[in-house]
Amino acid sequence: MGHGHGHSHSAAAGHAGGRYRWRLAVTFAMVATFLVVELVVGLWSHSLALISDAGHMTADVVALGAALVATRIATRKDTSGRRTYGSYRAEVFASGLTVLIMLGVAVYVVVEAVGRIGAEPEVQTGAMLVVGAIGLAVNIASMLLLREGSTESLNVKGAYFEVVADAVGSVGVILAGLLVATTGQTWWDTGVAVAIGLFVAVRAIVLGRQVLAVLGQHVPDGMQVDQVVADLEALPGIEDVHDLHVWTLTSGMNVATAHLVVAPDADPQRVLTDAQALLSSSHRIEHATLQTETAPTRQCHEVTW
Ligand SMILES: [Zn+2]
Ligand SMILES: [Zn+2]
Ligand SMILES: [Zn+2]
Repeated sequence: MGHGHGHSHSAAAGHAGGRYRWRLAVTFAMVATFLVVELVVGLWSHSLALISDAGHMTADVVALGAALVATRIATRKDTSGRRTYGSYRAEVFASGLTVLIMLGVAVYVVVEAVGRIGAEPEVQTGAMLVVGAIGLAVNIASMLLLREGSTESLNVKGAYFEVVADAVGSVGVILAGLLVATTGQTWWDTGVAVAIGLFVAVRAIVLGRQVLAVLGQHVPDGMQVDQVVADLEALPGIEDVHDLHVWTLTSGMNVATAHLVVAPDADPQRVLTDAQALLSSSHRIEHATLQTETAPTRQCHEVTW
């Protein structure tokens, strides 16, 4: 049975994200519309740089859509009674999908680029420059919209960095258009496309590692388990800490479980509230399930995980 959640999970990330929802929505609409234009023009103009950048944009549209949905889902009540953590991890699954799309884009661009070696099609540089400039304008507008919220909400912060990365892609497209137009060498287009593809692949690997760390229940980034144990053991009334587990539910929401061996003369309730306050204030762990014990139980010795 799920424990009745009387306490609010102080999901500031979700609520702060909620206030910036309309900004995320406007950005999503602009980027999604532009992505369609870029893909159509990319295919028509034979510019692999444009197609590659459109692929990058597709991953970002999925990521932005996920940020939008995550801010909605995070505040929604679970009605099934079977999701004791709610649907907070929807964000993590969406990030996993983004990683797969990014890897697909990178592979497509490299395969297409190899196919074009020695047989570069004629590219329409005028179309590249116009679409690249519009893309840059869309991304700069999005950056201005999201900058304010990016310091307050992890969702908005994620979306903001997507848009910044997109602006880099747009600059790449403009650069490719200029290079092809001035040198007459079409392979500049292919070269820039491959550079965008590699950029997307690197971002996919970075994001993919974060997704795997969350799904693998790794200790949150930047947190030192030894330090958590030492801080807990330094509290008055705590003799020993064992079976400590720390993991991330979704970005900004850390969870822990631990056994606290309490001194015989200490007040277990006092130790418990002190430990919870310490974990929350010093280690960003707001959801801690702590078992106080005066002597190890059989479980302490027999359960090895
Ligand atoms: Zn709880
Ligand atoms: Zn124990
Ligand atoms: Zn354990």
